[in-house]
Amino acid sequence: MRYVINSPTQVSVPVYGQDGRFPVRRIFCVGRNYAAHIREMGNDEREPPFFFTKPADAVVETGQTIPYPMQTSDLHHEVELVLAIGQHGTDIPAKAALDHVWGACVGIDLTRRDLQAAAKSKGRPWDMAKGFDHSAPMGALVPLTDMPDLGSGRIWLSVNGEVRQDADLADMIWPAADCIAHLSRSVALAPGDLIMTGTPAGVGPLVAGDHVKAGVAGAPDLGIHIDG
Ligand code: MN
Repeated sequence: MRYVINSPTQVSVPVYGQDGRFPVRRIFCVGRNYAAHIREMGNDEREPPFFFTKPADAVVETGQTIPYPMQTSDLHHEVELVLAIGQHGTDIPAKAALDHVWGACVGIDLTRRDLQAAAKSKGRPWDMAKGFDHSAPMGALVPLTDMPDLGSGRIWLSVNGEVRQDADLADMIWPAADCIAHLSRSVALAPGDLIMTGTPAGVGPLVAGDHVKAGVAGAPDLGIHIDG
């Protein structure tokens, strides 16, 4: 195939301890998945999960410095467990869902909270609040064979050394398998898809110059710096 412009670069995420990288196809995100975070945002915790997306090229690797984003004065951090899909599937039963997972990592769902609040109040889409450039920092992936327990373990985020989010994966309302089952009823999942599974309580603002670290038990920590 010959293209009329240069073909875009394939986005990928490093794999811990391996030379090979995981190519990213799409990024899906779960809207609300920890009761304490749902309460802090003033929402009803009994609703089924819902999803939004980020573009694949929003991925930022650990160790990078990113600019403070355009069009916001309220950039928020949301630490999340991220699932990397390795097998095709539609309408996947929860009990078979983890067979579709290649690996997992920690990620941050960076959010322009002021734009999200404006979108919510007007019933408009969240895309510009969630899917902006550099909005998906990702740690190195760990193959599921090396990280068998996605159901419990610490998930945390610190800013300049101060812990802001600190919870357990067991607090997820919809565990990893349920997120996959629900999402696969809306879209056909494919190898390369990433699923960000929602954030625990403690979200808050970032400012220029902040050093952000995040982790989930069993995967390498993620660190980014906000330019300034
Ligand atoms: Mn989120």
